[in-house]
Amino acid sequence: MKLILLGPPGAGKGTQAEILSKRLGIDTISTGVMLRTAIREKTELGKLAQSYMNEGKLVPDEVVVGIVKERLQQEDCKKGFILDGFPRTTAQAQALTETGIEIDKVLSLEVSDETIIERLSGRRECKECGTPYHVVYKPSSKGDVCDVCGGKLIQRADDNEETVRNRIKVYHDQTEPIKEYYQKTGKLVIAYGKEELEETTKEVAHALGLE
Ligand code: ADP
Ligand code: ZN
Repeated sequence: MKLILLGPPGAGKGTQAEILSKRLGIDTISTGVMLRTAIREKTELGKLAQSYMNEGKLVPDEVVVGIVKERLQQEDCKKGFILDGFPRTTAQAQALTETGIEIDKVLSLEVSDETIIERLSGRRECKECGTPYHVVYKPSSKGDVCDVCGGKLIQRADDNEETVRNRIKVYHDQTEPIKEYYQKTGKLVIAYGKEELEETTKEVAHALGLE
């Protein structure tokens, strides 16, 4: 299964990607995680991406397209993958189409703007491995450390209110048009994010025909 997850920031794409990844036995490719790793490791890519990300702006298309193309060439992607956070502009979607890689489904995970703000304020992630958590919806069983690796849980630099507003605007202006792009190919399916994680997981499985 070659899958794209679309949706506003805080829709729960990362969490659903993680669940699907286990269920389907394929890796998640998250541009957000890749970029944050680059920032942490202070690489050239990280230095370039940081200023954009801290303001809630998109990293330039050519940069993101470059890192995703490189990742998609790796052997493990042949059996399938889940793209989380890419494509995020129509130009990125076109660049992906031009690689010739056949995408099976594009899942749009929808939630309201009010929900996004509430979600992002409670969001945490593991400083070491990037696993996503939420203080209410998906707490770690070990309190303020990661269930997976024991790393410290932190709030992302771009989860402050002003940056969140920017990210929501960027989503509506630049990312939402992609839905139409994939609607035309007949690959778009929609799932509505629910209050409960398990409910959302069911919606997603249903939308993808996995039941
Ligand atoms: P969220 O979906 O919650 O906004 P992500 O981790 O997917 O979180 O993205 C965080 C930030 O990383 C974005 O606001 C943007 O600056 C940058 N980014 C991630 N993916 C892309 C992409 N495909 N194109 C451009 N910028 C990206
Ligand atoms: Zn961890």
